[in-house]
Amino acid sequence: MRPIYLDNNATTRTDPSVVADMLPYFSEFFGNASSQHSFGAPVAAAVRAARQSLQNLLGAAAESEIVFTSGGTESDNSAILSALETQDGRDEIITTTVEHAAVLAFVGHLEKTRGIKVHYIDVDARGRLDIEAYKRLLGPRTAIVSIMWANNETGTIFPVSELAEVAHAAGALFHTDAVQAVGKLPIDLKSTRIDMLSLSGHKLHGPKGIGALYVRKGVKFKPLIRGGHQERGRRGGTENVPGIIGLGKAAVLTAERFQEELGRVRKLRDRLEQGIVQQIGHCLVNGDLDNRLPNTSNIAFEHLDGEAILTNMDRAGIAASSGSACTAGSTMPSHVLKAMGVPASALQGVVRFSLSRETTSEEIDRVLESMPQIILKLRGMSAHWTHQPSQTDELASSFV
Ligand code: PLP
Repeated sequence: MRPIYLDNNATTRTDPSVVADMLPYFSEFFGNASSQHSFGAPVAAAVRAARQSLQNLLGAAAESEIVFTSGGTESDNSAILSALETQDGRDEIITTTVEHAAVLAFVGHLEKTRGIKVHYIDVDARGRLDIEAYKRLLGPRTAIVSIMWANNETGTIFPVSELAEVAHAAGALFHTDAVQAVGKLPIDLKSTRIDMLSLSGHKLHGPKGIGALYVRKGVKFKPLIRGGHQERGRRGGTENVPGIIGLGKAAVLTAERFQEELGRVRKLRDRLEQGIVQQIGHCLVNGDLDNRLPNTSNIAFEHLDGEAILTNMDRAGIAASSGSACTAGSTMPSHVLKAMGVPASALQGVVRFSLSRETTSEEIDRVLESMPQIILKLRGMSAHWTHQPSQTDELASSFV
């Protein structure tokens, strides 16, 4: 039987039509987009069309606001560094405790090596931001606020448009890591005060190693990667043309399929989640259930080990994740769930299911058949399960 892939927040399958559009740009149209001759011109035109597709997907005001990068990590690093280097007299960063490592590791590095002051906003048990604390932290020294649009582990959505307004009122720039939001939520940057936004191709059925940073017209920018004058001097290095073409096509497909696919995916996710919760006791759904990405479900199975669950799921032909991709394989509990105060009994046994437009109803049926057997078998083997009282019983009623 074909394995079932429910790890789309880690990466998605590149759409075959994306691959088809990329192929000619390896050997037929191989010219350098910066070359003036007949080999370069058609390539430059295709890069421009891809930029316009992204502009359209994001509701950006101009194609020049899109800078191609190597992915979400580079976009996040670039946005933060640029703000520090362009905001005279402002040298502090505000972010959250639940960002992806692409932000947290970079600001941690700036703290250590440059003595930059970084403020971390806490979240509550549902992963919602402490907005009052955020307002108190903003001040005349804030250079940039970097807050994700949606969390990769729980899917919890942050009110970035409102947060950007507040940042502006304090004279600070606002960046959002929208790597998980693009393609899963409606985005219209023209109608917001967001200054910079990061996205990544491989999360929306595009290729890996390509992404973009949106930089609002008029926002001062200094590059992270210095070299040639590519991307209007905002990102040195010969463009990854096949990747750019692939990202452009992925943006077109995403824009076309947005409405119908997301409603269908949300229904499948809800059926999966409800089926699991109803059939298997002592599990906790993590995140803000009223305000989540439509494709993500993060479920903690009490007193079990996430890696053991995933290994058994893998044997049954189901791929999911125990946390964010970069922490998979390590047994460290998720920093996101720790920040939310998830009880110790539930911190280790977490499975993140993330669906995509390719997920089918039959696949969800198969997962619902397998999960109770897997969890009940593991619980039968778990000493913790038979000897420890539940810590989630009280919480569960408020979550599920
Ligand atoms: N930000 C978030 C929220 C992510 O989920 C990821 C990838 O997992 C990244 C950034 C990093 O993106 P990339 O893999 O394109 O560098």
